[in-house]
Amino acid sequence: MNGTQILTLGLGLEAPWTLKDQHLDTAVSPHRLDLHVEAERGNLYPCPECGKACPAHDFTTRTWRHLNFFQHHCYLHARVPRAKCPDHGIKRVEVPWARPGSDFTLLWSIKEKLRWIQQAPTPRGARWRITRFLNFAREAIADKALLAPVRKALNILERHADRVIRRWLSALTNARLEGMNSLFQGARSRARGYRNEGYFITMIYLIGSPVGSLLDQAKST
Ligand SMILES: [Zn+2]
Repeated sequence: MNGTQILTLGLGLEAPWTLKDQHLDTAVSPHRLDLHVEAERGNLYPCPECGKACPAHDFTTRTWRHLNFFQHHCYLHARVPRAKCPDHGIKRVEVPWARPGSDFTLLWSIKEKLRWIQQAPTPRGARWRITRFLNFAREAIADKALLAPVRKALNILERHADRVIRRWLSALTNARLEGMNSLFQGARSRARGYRNEGYFITMIYLIGSPVGSLLDQAKST
């Protein structure tokens, strides 16, 4: 499996979308990773209203903020078609990695929502936010097979919510969050027990995102 295939898995890309190009800019700080996604030429796209496979009418290049890849800021670019449906006219096609109209990928949105849990001022507020978060995240990942490991992590968070909340005031310090980089190194050794690189990428996401620290705390309590 090469780098492009690993990134494709990590992004959760499905046909007709493929990763065509990647560029890491090390001249800027923090480093910036740009991923360019394309759909295969001549492909038909589902009309967002009725699902009928329709030809592309035109394309627009769009950009989404995606989860950092290691310490690199990551942006996803794609030429998104408008489908020409005989019944509904010209409609922007939905992409699997983001909600319609959003400038952020699903995983980025999930990560930001986790930050929102951490910013809860009280344990009671945290509980309420965790419930809202679980509903939001489950709806967002829906039936996307490649995000199954994320779904598993959500179940763990739900099971351990009490413990996460109990440690609310003492444990969620900035220092803990800023120590994430060393955890990335640890991910490599942990990933040896995983079936494929896709899991490894997912683990980096989970360890790098605040859910990693929440889950670690839950398990160690
Ligand atoms: Zn239609």
